[in-house]
Amino acid sequence: MYDVKGNLHRILDSLPQGVRLVAISKYHPNEFIEAAYAEGQRVFGESHEQELKLKHETLPQDIVWHFIGHLQTNKVKYIAPYIDMVEAVDSLKLLKEIDKQAAKCGRVIDVLLELHIAEESTKYGLRLDECRQLLEDGEWRGLEHVRICGLMMMASFTDDQEQIRREFTVAADFFDEVKSRYFADASWFCERSWGMSDDYEIAVACRSTMVRIGTSIFGPRVY
Ligand SMILES: *Cc1c(COP(=O)(O)O)cnc(C)c1O
Repeated sequence: MYDVKGNLHRILDSLPQGVRLVAISKYHPNEFIEAAYAEGQRVFGESHEQELKLKHETLPQDIVWHFIGHLQTNKVKYIAPYIDMVEAVDSLKLLKEIDKQAAKCGRVIDVLLELHIAEESTKYGLRLDECRQLLEDGEWRGLEHVRICGLMMMASFTDDQEQIRREFTVAADFFDEVKSRYFADASWFCERSWGMSDDYEIAVACRSTMVRIGTSIFGPRVY
């Protein structure tokens, strides 16, 4: 097995106070997660509903699960009973479905709005103007079973560090705009989820509060 323990502590030691680690365990077996759990890690991220279901059923119940992938509306009902945070909400339709399923479970589910800032056309997420429009429309205000806790995004897949830094900076500035305009009184709207294995140091410099790191902890994924 990869040196999960060593990697985990190296990363945790490098994170400033106030930045939380979401250990991205997708495609990795339970024993990898258990190794990180044994070191005190509790927050894990998965991107496939079926895989998450199996892990949720077989791993310790105090694990905090974040759904980080693209979530289809017809899958929401399967994770609604137990998911702690849905990180990548990219439409009002999805937000409403999470609200509906959370209501059925008598829960309030924390979510992040996913931004599309990267240049790649393949990435999911809301363009900034789409995100503004969604918030301006105001329908989300009536959704009592979701709590919008902040923003999430992925930078472009590139070696160009300056481009990555620019994209994180755009996200951080946009956070300030949205915070002051719609969530000034909402103490829970405080999360900026950006930074992965290859770019989390830049992300932290650009005010990330939550880094999502898989490969640097668990090694390469076997698909
Ligand atoms: C897989 C994934 C990660 C983790 O990526 P690594 O490069 O392995 O650290 C982070 N965020 C999202 C949305 C992912 O899908």
